[in-house]
Amino acid sequence: MDLLEYQGKELFRGHGVPVPDGRPATTVAEAVEAAEALGYPVVVKAQVLIGGRGKAGGIKLAKTREEIEEHAGAILGMDIRGFTVHELYVERASDIAEEYYAAILLDRTAKRPMAMLSRMGGMDVEEIAANDPNAIVRVYVDPLLGFQDFQARRLAFDAGIAADVIRPAGAVLAKLYETFVKEDALLVEVNPLLVTTDREVVALDAKVTIDGNSLFRHPDTAAFRDVGSEDPQERMAKERGLTFVKLEGDIGILGNGAGLVMSTLDVVAQAGGRPANFLDAGGGSKAEAIVDAVEVILSNPNVRAVLFNIFGGITRCDEVARGLVTAFGQLEVNVPFVVRLEGTNDEEGRRILAEAELPNVHVEKTMDGAAERVVELAKAGAAVS
Ligand code: GDP
Ligand code: MN
Repeated sequence: MDLLEYQGKELFRGHGVPVPDGRPATTVAEAVEAAEALGYPVVVKAQVLIGGRGKAGGIKLAKTREEIEEHAGAILGMDIRGFTVHELYVERASDIAEEYYAAILLDRTAKRPMAMLSRMGGMDVEEIAANDPNAIVRVYVDPLLGFQDFQARRLAFDAGIAADVIRPAGAVLAKLYETFVKEDALLVEVNPLLVTTDREVVALDAKVTIDGNSLFRHPDTAAFRDVGSEDPQERMAKERGLTFVKLEGDIGILGNGAGLVMSTLDVVAQAGGRPANFLDAGGGSKAEAIVDAVEVILSNPNVRAVLFNIFGGITRCDEVARGLVTAFGQLEVNVPFVVRLEGTNDEEGRRILAEAELPNVHVEKTMDGAAERVVELAKAGAAVS
């Protein structure tokens, strides 16, 4: 589970990582109130689960009431690379002397935490790695021994940070490690780790990912889960009790049973197509569930064709067919469907589909045949529009 910057900073505060004073806000009035309480100048920061907010215009300095009103108004509702801004963080502005990069993450290959430090903060870590790979130094931490003082100093020396902040930066790293362990994080990233003109070391940004499996131990963190920033399609599916994962392609997929859906994704990929989603309608899917599922699939504007792959065991193919007929009656369907029904009541299912004479619905006998057909149809659809 990814946390917003201000949520990560709240965890930082709890573990003694220095952060500037700040307050979240969801309206212009709240932002103004926060700024007045903190004292100008302040920085208004878009709270979205994606980096590069600065470059996108989602971070602005405000020196007066007029400026905070203007910037808060402009940033709320802004789209930052597909994420709409619903929340702001208003923070007392910092005077920057140096910008470093610090992170603690779980290295799955080494099976232990890794601490990273670079004196080239402020830009993307990918960019640092591409420009100057030696500018990032790393140490592995033995989870039983914990993060040792000498490791912090080694990192700080090797990274070549300013001599006067080696000790305080090391202390901040130790506290970040404590945050990482106590909060069951998979990633704690601070970019930039700031040295102010007063030579204080402060976390100016926070990117924290918590292990979702540990949330039962952290009810306060679990409560951070932000419904507003969830993908709207995934939220819609969750509300309908469907198991759904959004993907990046243009072929909508529905199957019953996770294993069948996974292999359907594979055969579609093998036929040269790109699935738009994973959707498991579950065993024993009733007609209403099918209508719900079709609506979720079609709410993705990228979808150019849909593949239904049903293996009837507990699920009855005639129920699925009835659901599809109802869905076509209730929804506006502008893309072709390929349907493969196999198993319990499959003949009845195919008869229902044939009688309904649904426009642009193609029945296929085999899974491979269905995958090839849907890929063809999606490509034809892409060529037309
Ligand atoms: P990101 O762009 O999403 O990574 O957001 P950051 O929180 O890292 O902010 C991006 C950049 O904005 C930082 O690297 C700083 O250069 C600048 N910035 C953020 N807060 C302040 C501040 O309080 N004072 C000043 N002078 N610059 C800031
Ligand atoms: Mn940043």
